[in-house]
Amino acid sequence: MAEEKQEEKKKGLALHWQILIGIGLGIVAGILLCKIAPYEQWSVYVSWAGDIFLRGLRMIVIPVVFTSIALGVAGMGNTAALGRIAGKTLLYYLVTTAIAATVGLTLVNIVKPGVGANLNLAEEVASVGSGEVSFIDQIVNIVPSNIFESLSKGDLLPIIFFAILFGFFMNKVEKHHAATLTNLFKAIYEVIMKITMFIIRLAPFGVFAIVTGVVGKQAGNPQALLSMAGSLGVFLLVVWGGLLIQGGVVLPLLVRVIGKQNPWRHIAKMSTALLTAFSTCSSGAALPINIRDSQEKCGISNKIASFVLPLGCTINMNGTALYECVTALFIAQAYGIDLSLAQQLMIIFTALLAAVGTAGIPMAGMVMLTIVLTAVGLPLEGIGLVLAVEQLCDMPRTCINTYGDSCGAVIIAHSEGEQLTI
Ligand code: ASP
Repeated sequence: MAEEKQEEKKKGLALHWQILIGIGLGIVAGILLCKIAPYEQWSVYVSWAGDIFLRGLRMIVIPVVFTSIALGVAGMGNTAALGRIAGKTLLYYLVTTAIAATVGLTLVNIVKPGVGANLNLAEEVASVGSGEVSFIDQIVNIVPSNIFESLSKGDLLPIIFFAILFGFFMNKVEKHHAATLTNLFKAIYEVIMKITMFIIRLAPFGVFAIVTGVVGKQAGNPQALLSMAGSLGVFLLVVWGGLLIQGGVVLPLLVRVIGKQNPWRHIAKMSTALLTAFSTCSSGAALPINIRDSQEKCGISNKIASFVLPLGCTINMNGTALYECVTALFIAQAYGIDLSLAQQLMIIFTALLAAVGTAGIPMAGMVMLTIVLTAVGLPLEGIGLVLAVEQLCDMPRTCINTYGDSCGAVIIAHSEGEQLTI
């Protein structure tokens, strides 16, 4: 850590400031480029830098997840510790996601942004496939039938399942085998973390390119801007407002009261991971940074960070659950469909399941929205109503997804008696 601080001093500006500047310059560049030429003409010359950055982060996700979980579980030593930490983790994820969904539903019921929305502004949704997977299937799919297939497809939940088993049984083989595996995984993990640090140096440039593209796309689409002036603008405000309540009040309060840490210092320490999630719309891409900074800046043990964060990145989506509730209700309001209390509770329930099944990649939450809409019989075409602002919703909800995981790691580490450095 000292080494890194020294390096930061040498380089001057801290990384999160560099990323923020990247975001600011990206906004300006996106607007200016749109004035010079249409988005389609210049976007290819800008997007490559963002693509390289994103691909670089995705490249390291699977090795980080596998080695860190196996090491983390093996490090827990016994079944009781594993069961206790897993139980706390799942409880925290369930409760906070349910709170997020309720916050979203409450706000959208108060503000009613969909009432009177202009249905003619709906976009075609031919590209949105149905994300419907039954609850039973979701559970069955956690067990990989071919671990190499899961690894190559990047299916995190089966990989996590296998890594937990692997870590657990590492403790059950002869001592010298266990030591060999531990050393090997530690070595791989260390190398991958070095690669992570190398890739996140590119973050300001990658983020600049991504934001330029996002802003250019919106600024070059007068229809989207026009519709944002009406009910879609109010919808956007409700989504951002709900996320702000979850990320600015609910979660910090939990960090303060249960985790006994200063929530604002925690946010500052995690800012690189949060800004990466925000600008890339991928909590999976932010995961390696989240794991690194949780340990190096917040002092969370490898055992907890390696278990809680990858699992959270896969199943804990506070922002996504909130977004799905708000959007489902917005669509119902726009189509003039009245939903009973029972139906609204059904929305919370399915939003929870959908959030668990959502991958940490851009727009995944919107695809999973089909599950929520189907569950209460809402028209799937309704998704077309919100397509224009999808990216603007994806950015903050991904940030809250990542922040929720990080808060979980803090709270669980504190409950296990760890001394944090927040
Ligand atoms: N983009 C989100 C994430 O990576 C998932 C979503 O689309 O809601 O966490």
